[in-house]
Order: sequence, then structure tokens, then C-alpha cells
Amino acid sequence: MRQTVSIILILLVIALAICAVLALRSQRSIGRSVALMQFALIPPVIGNLLIILSGNETVANIGCYIYFLGMDLVMFSLLRFTFDYCAISWPSRKLQILVYCVLAFDVIQFLCNPFFGQAFDTEPVMVDGYPYYSLVPLAGQTFHRVVDYSIFFSVLIIFAVKTIRSSRINSEKYWVILLTMVFVSLFQTFFIFSRTPVDRSMIGYGLFGLLIFYFSLRYRPLRLLDRMLAGIASELPEALFFFDAGDRCIWANPPGVSLAGIEDDNYDHVPDRLKQLFGDIDREEEWSSQKSLGTGDTQKSYVVEKHLVTDDRGRKAGSFLSVRDNTAEQRTLQKEIHKATHDALTGVYNRSGYDLILSGIEMESTFIVLIDIDRFKSVNDTYGHETGDRVLRRVADTIRRQFRVEDYVCRLGGDEFVVFMVRADLSMTRLIQEKIDRINGELRRFAAEDRHRATDEYIPPISISAGIAHGSMAEDPAELFRNADLAMYESKRRGRSRYTFYPFDEEETLTDVR
Ligand code: GH3
Ligand code: MG
Repeated sequence: MRQTVSIILILLVIALAICAVLALRSQRSIGRSVALMQFALIPPVIGNLLIILSGNETVANIGCYIYFLGMDLVMFSLLRFTFDYCAISWPSRKLQILVYCVLAFDVIQFLCNPFFGQAFDTEPVMVDGYPYYSLVPLAGQTFHRVVDYSIFFSVLIIFAVKTIRSSRINSEKYWVILLTMVFVSLFQTFFIFSRTPVDRSMIGYGLFGLLIFYFSLRYRPLRLLDRMLAGIASELPEALFFFDAGDRCIWANPPGVSLAGIEDDNYDHVPDRLKQLFGDIDREEEWSSQKSLGTGDTQKSYVVEKHLVTDDRGRKAGSFLSVRDNTAEQRTLQKEIHKATHDALTGVYNRSGYDLILSGIEMESTFIVLIDIDRFKSVNDTYGHETGDRVLRRVADTIRRQFRVEDYVCRLGGDEFVVFMVRADLSMTRLIQEKIDRINGELRRFAAEDRHRATDEYIPPISISAGIAHGSMAEDPAELFRNADLAMYESKRRGRSRYTFYPFDEEETLTDVR
């Protein structure tokens, strides 16, 4: 039995020494108090070990001195730890000095024991077949017990008060220590007062030291952390949905609750609801995607992101989905893009828009229609720049109305426009002729209508010339444009207010002009 207890005490000494070193290395401010506590516990455990292991009276007596003096150091370190851990200070400097003086006095009176024999004596009893020097407490020992017990119970009361006074979620870090102390005090009291031959009280204290190390430096109050993180998540403007490893929704923050229409904390339908809103969300990888809900002015834009949570071994532990409403950003972005790619005067695509479209068109199924206003300079000269601008707007409007919504109308600059007719094959030439004729007809009619004459809408009679080329006849977009430009030049040469398809017969045209 003595051997078994000895082995336990030796293991405790090793564990306390390791914890002391780890606590010293810890970056946390409480690390030093915890380390002192671990170091302080080593001498009394060793003292206890010597008493139990040795059958020699002198060694057992030395063990007793180490034990008792060590316990005073333990009480000193316990006080320091308590004040640090509970973030409190001594109520008064006088009380602090008094307590330390009493502890110092206890040390002195123990050191006087060899001369006066007032503290304790030992008497041999046979345990496991050899003498065990059991303690005979005298007046000094009683004083020591009163001092140590007073300190221990004061500390216990401090932790009890802290437990009661702290909010439920914060009290955890206090009641775990309180519980440990109650357990140690019961263990200790039993062995001291039962006076069983082998004193095992230091086992309780040793374990107390280890638990203190764990709770103050290693243990993370998960419930508190959980509550804090939930608090932070609730404050965030984006909707957050948390899923377990089986993709079942376990929690959503308030914006998430309102987005998914969660009622009575029932999260069962969340995955289906999110699928309805944003499509497939189950992909087993991290992803981010821009999604839109609704149409027109009520359209909302969201950035949907999936994040995976893995455990220490890299296995999937769960995931969470964040949904951020970025409608305002998207609208601003769309406006910026629109501004950068559209002409402020006419509202059709500008040069940048044209470049963008040209780089993305499918040549094989595109007609390019180059349009230039005839003798536009003279409009400016005769009627002024404002009327010139009105003409440009009128022409842009007329072109836009004649082509389909999916066709792109651009103003390259000055009085030059380009129309990309997408999904158009060569059989559509007749249609294009009609469109150009209609544009010219409309412009003529508008200028002729008397009702515009005296108003701000007035525009002089104008016409346009067009050069048309099909993508299938060019190697690249640059050549396509060149072909249309040649055809346009041909229209101008032939007398304007007309169209020319590329390729054209120059001879025939020249003859025609003559
Ligand atoms: P052509 O039939 O050969 O095309 O003759 P044109 O007079 O139309 O000649 P051109 O196409 O070279 O003339 C373009 C004119 O467009 C020159 C410039 O004064 C005018 N212009 C360019 N940008 C603007 C604008 O933003 N507003 C106005 N009002 N006029 C513009
Ligand atoms: Mg012109």
C-alpha cells in the first residue's frame, strides 16, 4: 500500500514539474502564478513521499518539515493565484501584511520545533511490515492547521462569491475551481482527522494543482465562446447559416432567420429553402457566387459563400453559408459599367462598349452595319451645335427602334454609328436594306412634319449612308470593320442616302455614279 501511494506521489511530482515549466512558458499573464503554485506543491508532495516511503525516523522527520514548510509556500502561492485568477486585489495592505506575517511566523515556529518540540512529534507504527512515522500534532501543528485552513477557506469563499456574482455564462471558470477545492478539502480533512497511518492528503493537493493548471491555462470555456461567437454572428448584417457534417442546419443568425423564413427555431427546411432561392448549395467545397433574386427595380443581388469547417484531422465537421446583400454595390457597379460603356449624348454604346462587343461577337453569325450621317458638318454650321446634338440623338433613337433589342447599337464618335446584328445570316440582306430605307424615310418624315418646326424638337432634313459587311467574309474583327468601312465609303461615293453591302462591284458602282 505504501508503495502504491509512493508511486502515485512520484507521478504527481513529475506531472507538477512539467506543468510548472509549461505554465512558466505560457504567454498568458496568469502563467507565473500558476507556475508558482505548481512549484510550491512539489516540496509537500516530496515531504509526504519521504514520510510514506522511509522507515527511518530522521528521514521521516525531514519529510515532515518539508511537508509543513512546503504547505506554507502552497498557501502563499494559492493566495497569489486566487487574486490573479479572480482579478481582485487585497482589501487592504494591512491585511495582506498580516497574512504574510502569520505565514512567516508559522514557518519560524516549525523551524523551532527541533529545539522546543512545540509543533509536532512522530511515533512509529508498523505498516506493510516496517515502521511508519505517524504524526503526533502538538500546539504548533494546531496553529499551522488553523492558519492553512483559514487561508484555504478564505480562498474557497472568494471563489464561491465569484461564482454567485458572475453571470451564468461567466461563472463556469469559477465554479470548476470551487468544486475542485471542495473535493480537495474533503479529501484532506478525511486523512488528517481520521489519522489513518498512511497520510495520502497530498494526492488531493497534487491533483488540485494539476486541475488549476488545466482550468487556468488549457481549458477553453466553450459555452462562453459559443455564446460570444453567436453574439458576434447575430450582429453581422449578412445572413449566416450553420450546418453540421450531415448538412442539417443547426443555427442561423437573425438576418438568416428572416431570409429563409425560419419559424419557431425550426431549421429543418433551411437547406430546401436556400436551394429554392440560390440553386445548388450542397457542393462539397468552398465556393463563392453572385446571385440575383427578383427582377426590375425590386431585383436584389447577393454574394453567397460556402465555407467548410474541418476538425483537427482535416475531416469535415460542418459548414456555413454566408449570404450578403450587395444590391447597392451591384447597382453602383452596373451604373459605372453603363457610364463607361455608353455614350452620354445618345445613350447607345460608346467606343469602349463597341470594343467590348467586337471582341466577343460570333463572327460567323454577325452583320456589322456602319452608319454615317450625310453632310452632318453643314447641319452644325447652319443650325448650330445644339441642333447637331439633337440630330445625333434622333438618329440614334431611329436606329435603335429599327433593330432588335438583342442587336448592339454603338456610336463610334462624331456622326458615325455601328450596329452589330447578332444571330444574322447572309439571307437577311433584304431585311437590312429595308431597315436602312426605313431609317432614312423616318428621318425625312420627321424633318418634314410641320409640328416640330417651331419647337425644341426641330431637326433639319437629313439622311444616313450605310456600309454593311458579314462576319463570315472576314478573318478577324478588324477586317470585318474594314470591309464595312469600304462599303460605307462606297455609299458616300455613290451619292449618299444609301447602303452598300460588302463585297461590291466597283466598276459597276462607278458606272452607276456617272
Ligand atoms: P459626310 O456626308 O461625308 O459624312 O459629311 P459630314 O459633313 O457628315 O462629314 P463628317 O462625317 O466627317 O462630319 C462629322 C461632323 O460631326 C464633324 C463634327 O463637326 C461633327 N460632330 C462630331 N461630334 C459631334 C457632336 O458630338 N455633336 C455635334 N453636334 N457635332 C459633332
Ligand atoms: Mg458624316
